[in-house]
Amino acid sequence: MIAQDLESAIDELVRLVESARVIAPFTGAGISTECGIPDFRSPGGLWTKNKPIAFEDFLASREMRDEAWRRRFAMDAQFSAAQPGRGHLALASLYRAGKAPAVITQNIDNLHQSSGIAAEHVIELHGNNSYALCLDCGKRYELDWVRERFSEAGERAPDCPHCRGYIKTATISFGQAMPEREMRRAEQVTLDCDLFLAVGSSLVVWPAAGFPLMAKRNGARLVIINREPTEFDELADLVVRDDIGTVLTPLIAH
Ligand code: NAD
Ligand code: ZN
Repeated sequence: MIAQDLESAIDELVRLVESARVIAPFTGAGISTECGIPDFRSPGGLWTKNKPIAFEDFLASREMRDEAWRRRFAMDAQFSAAQPGRGHLALASLYRAGKAPAVITQNIDNLHQSSGIAAEHVIELHGNNSYALCLDCGKRYELDWVRERFSEAGERAPDCPHCRGYIKTATISFGQAMPEREMRRAEQVTLDCDLFLAVGSSLVVWPAAGFPLMAKRNGARLVIINREPTEFDELADLVVRDDIGTVLTPLIAH
């Protein structure tokens, strides 16, 4: 059902949230646009400017690794200034109230953690770009460490001093294997819920987009909040095509 006006959409959303036993929030880039981090697929979003670097290209050339780090550092100001938005605060309220055991996210911006959700309860399907990992030995590197070496070497990406492996932000790029543990945990939360809230995702990136479908097939109610249509709108019990912050504000507990 596509909500006809904002007021009735919010009424219905609040009713569904109140009657739910376990809520599984699932978020995409749209929840963070009001925090100053552009999404990929909105007009003017990152997709139209810089096509993401695929994993195989990152592995294949030093120039691509340099370029990947140049882009990451170019976004430094944007990412470090970002504060949780109204959508993040609303979901954190559901978490604190014990209604949402965890949040499943496609985002890499760390804003659910900043909103007060414990890191172990943020299931990051596409990783996190606030730190880096060696692709071979798995050692963690902080961005300050990478930045220092990157600029000292004249914008060349550093390799791991321990094993010579490539160092990459802890994100999952196109073409990179999905994190198994996170996929399993997301599936568990999806199957345990009776209300699945898909917030700010175009639902075109697989396999992440499979979770709303899985929830619905398992008998949960499905709510989609996104200002553009998605492929799953017909399946949803409630579709709200409006601004996420505005729609979720009534769920923020004061
Ligand atoms: P997407 O860019 O494909 O879709 C975002 C959707 O949110 C769009 O359909 C857009 O219409 C909607 N939207 C944007 N702002 C909104 C608002 N204020 N209110 C309502 N709707 C709004 O995002 P995605 O499906 O999450 O996939 C992109 C991938 O890129 C993700 O998997 C993620 O890994 C990565 N990414 C992450 C970030 C981040 O961490 N903040 C930002 C960009 C991309
Ligand atoms: Zn290493």
